Amino acid sequence: MAEIAVVGGGPSGAMCGAELARAGHCVAIIDEHLAWEKPCGGGLTHKAIQSYPFLLDNPLPKKIVRSVELISSDDHRARLDMTHPIVIYSRAVLNGLLLDRATVAGCKIRRAHVTAIDTCETRPRYLAGGEWHSADFLVLAAGARNRLLPDTRPLEPAELEMTQGYFIPQTKDAIQIKFMSEFEGYIWSFPRSDHLSVGICGSMAAHSSAELRAHLDAFVRHEKIPIDGARFYSHVLPSPQEQTLSQRPVMGPNWALIGDAAAWVDPLTGEGLFYAMKSGELLGKSLAEGAPEKYLARVKAVFSSDLEFAARIVRRFYRGKFLGGAVTTRMVQFLRRSAVFRQLMSDLFSGVQDYRSLKRRLWGQLGITVSDFIASVLNLEPAASVSVPPGDVLTG
Ligand SMILES: Cc1cc2nc3c(=O)[nH]c(=O)nc-3n(C[C@H](O)[C@H](O)[C@H](O)COP(=O)(O)OP(=O)(O)OC[C@H]3O[C@@H](n4cnc5c(N)ncnc54)[C@H](O)[C@@H]3O)c2cc1C
Repeated sequence: MAEIAVVGGGPSGAMCGAELARAGHCVAIIDEHLAWEKPCGGGLTHKAIQSYPFLLDNPLPKKIVRSVELISSDDHRARLDMTHPIVIYSRAVLNGLLLDRATVAGCKIRRAHVTAIDTCETRPRYLAGGEWHSADFLVLAAGARNRLLPDTRPLEPAELEMTQGYFIPQTKDAIQIKFMSEFEGYIWSFPRSDHLSVGICGSMAAHSSAELRAHLDAFVRHEKIPIDGARFYSHVLPSPQEQTLSQRPVMGPNWALIGDAAAWVDPLTGEGLFYAMKSGELLGKSLAEGAPEKYLARVKAVFSSDLEFAARIVRRFYRGKFLGGAVTTRMVQFLRRSAVFRQLMSDLFSGVQDYRSLKRRLWGQLGITVSDFIASVLNLEPAASVSVPPGDVLTG
């Protein structure tokens, strides 16, 4: 039985702690806030629900959403109906659920701010409440903002997105996603059980916070979303580049990073909850087997190649052009015209379809213009010959 300290009790830390405690280890989770309303959309895709059915099968308040409206920079709109819904939680509720599971599994949960860690000796140490505590292994699950980095480097502005948003006392039934011209990011409106989380994310290297706030405020005005009584938030979100994922050290002999701290976030969509929970689970399993070295191989097999693929195409998606128009605008136009493309996008959005197997599904199913469009965004060779279902060719 080993002593494991988990610094950070968000989704990644709570999942990792639960996995280890269940295997009989002595686990302490230390978090300065515990179950708090972390700035977040709170949306969980089908792959998260499929991996962790308890996220759906519980009596806690959550919103199940089956419809998404995509809005282009010139205000064209297309609606996606998802066979597999997105489940949206308030983060205070989600964190509480995951920490309760960790407690039931046997973790000791402590509220404290960790101000330093030291991994130089065989037994790593952390400083909390003015006292040093040691363990056999230290898991760092303290999110994107933390500066507790043993033998690794902080994320740079080009590897981060800035986010701003409002928690608004109002509710809706559909998710909205809005793209902006020459903007690397998007605005979202995520309905929760008793409020909306409306926010914007944008590359920290490419955009200023004033630019983000101006886009966000223009959106809420245009959509006539009243912000009286709304609470404003801002936070950072990892947006890994290919080399972040392949080269930044996330593990040493007696420590490992999980979740946002490791930058396991989809740089195209900003989805991080699934990767936080999955990386926590995979590290927990590997440590419980006494084989920490399996952690990175498992992450690679389960999701990091998909994140690398997203990192390769993200700029082309937000900045690229197709047939003279912005990729995001063309995407909305194609969605209005092609039922097959709508189904594909709905599966991508809800997390049923991953990026890597997209190519196999693509050829032969879509009309030539839509296939060429996707090939250009994904940087694939266009198909030699594909059939053209009526309505799939974009004109004008
Ligand atoms: C605005 C915004 C919207 C988002 N929307 C979505 C979405 O809709 N769907 C999705 O999948 N992902 C979304 N994400 C990403 C998602 O929030 C993260 O990927 C996820 O929270 C990562 O989980 P984590 O456990 O790694 O880190 P966190 O959830 O950040 O948890 C880290 C924990 O560490 C604690 N901590 C930090 N420093 C210390 C310290 N020094 N001492 C003690 N405790 C400490 C914090 O209190 C916190 O509880 C969004 C992110 C942002 C910023």
